[in-house]
Amino acid sequence: MKFLFKCLPVFLLGVILFVPSALADNSVKRVGGNTRYDTAVLAAKQSWKEAKTVIIVGGSAYPDGIAAAPLAYQKNIPLLYTNKHNLSAGTKKGLIDLKTKNVIIVGGTPAVSKNTENQIKKMGISVKRLAGSSRYATAAKVANEMGRSTTALVVNGFVNADGLASISYAASKKYPILFTNDSTLNGSTANAIKNLGIKNTIVIGGTKSISNALYNKLPNPSRVSAKNRYDLSMKLAKKANLGTSYTYITNGFKEADSIVGGVLGVKQGRAHLLTNGNNLSKETRTYIGDKNMKSFTVIGKASSLSDNVASQLKNPVVGKTVFIDPGHGDQDSGATGYGLLEKNVNLDIGKRLNSKLYSAGALPVMSRTGDTFDSLEERVKKGAKAKADIFISVHANANDNNSANGTETYYDKTYQSANSLKLAQNIQPQMVSALGTRDRGVKTAGFYVIKYSQMPSVLLETGFVTSPIDSNILKQSAKKDRLATGISKGVSSYFK
Ligand SMILES: [Zn+2]
Repeated sequence: MKFLFKCLPVFLLGVILFVPSALADNSVKRVGGNTRYDTAVLAAKQSWKEAKTVIIVGGSAYPDGIAAAPLAYQKNIPLLYTNKHNLSAGTKKGLIDLKTKNVIIVGGTPAVSKNTENQIKKMGISVKRLAGSSRYATAAKVANEMGRSTTALVVNGFVNADGLASISYAASKKYPILFTNDSTLNGSTANAIKNLGIKNTIVIGGTKSISNALYNKLPNPSRVSAKNRYDLSMKLAKKANLGTSYTYITNGFKEADSIVGGVLGVKQGRAHLLTNGNNLSKETRTYIGDKNMKSFTVIGKASSLSDNVASQLKNPVVGKTVFIDPGHGDQDSGATGYGLLEKNVNLDIGKRLNSKLYSAGALPVMSRTGDTFDSLEERVKKGAKAKADIFISVHANANDNNSANGTETYYDKTYQSANSLKLAQNIQPQMVSALGTRDRGVKTAGFYVIKYSQMPSVLLETGFVTSPIDSNILKQSAKKDRLATGISKGVSSYFK
């Protein structure tokens, strides 16, 4: 008893300290109302208990919202939307809750009607409107309101993707966003450049967005272009260099939510990234992995940014580069037995694993995707070149005695010994449970690919092709699919 009493508090302390820090999924918070109006109000309330002044733009007037975003940041005020013809109910309640006294409407009456303006005034709120006869002119008015600036972003006012990706960068630097079309400099924009004293322009998008001829007419121009809106948003997030201890993520095709995400992100000093709404974009994953992000706020309902993307963000494997090396290939069949060639079994499992990991949010890279051969040295080099976070070599076993069967996982102690062991311990039980094979456990061996790979690495022996039991299992697609799911789960839990 005496012994127990002495040990118990130490034991409990250990448990308390250990559990919360380990085995945690990433955190994902969703800010999404029933409508875009409600979402904007909810987002505003994340940052402001009260807002004496608020910007209101038309709920579908995206260029106005994009132009207004840097002004919102500069004035430290929220940006809300309204329905064109009537003040949206959610927005009205938001203005009351935020104790708003002044509203700046950005956009003309085609976006926010005179009737809506009067409804706001009837609430005892004073209204100022920044509007021009076109999106160019409205953006110029907003820029003028921001005051003199040596630098401005120049964005095609008809390419929303470019504008959405620009918000947090422009706002964080307090640069106005001015609009052009693809080839001509609008008079309002030209005047704004002159009147604001702009000496440098940052042109957003490729030559399809803004032609080289137009680019060359701008003061001291530089260009940020990318292969798609996700890539552009990542590049501008890198340039803005905002915090990533938590990050705002929005669907790059949902303008209203993305404008809100940009405004809220920069207010919080945090990066904002665009993604595909159904499947986390590759570029977004890359930045998440580079910065080892673990905490996210997504803007919009599940119909805007899907629960699938939220799950991917929650998965600790998100953004991790996982190198998958299906053993053998081409002239090197590996082990053979019961009509199975190991190289084919490994490739089949490797491809399935690749697909499961990508679905989970990871960035898998394969050493081979067809019946080709690489030396062991080449496989290790490929893993290093991919800057993989972990290395998984997939194999099947063989023995002269056909009674040998079961599943085992190897690691090597040369590099990352503890993490390699941890990876092996996370994967092994998942494989055994998926296949229903004999558990041969986790073992050490200096196999070349795991000995020389400098990241945590394991070599999986999924089963014996020389065993009638295991070979029967390894012939079944459904079993191999379950195996891939199991390995993927093991990899996710390793990163927890
Ligand atoms: Zn092998």
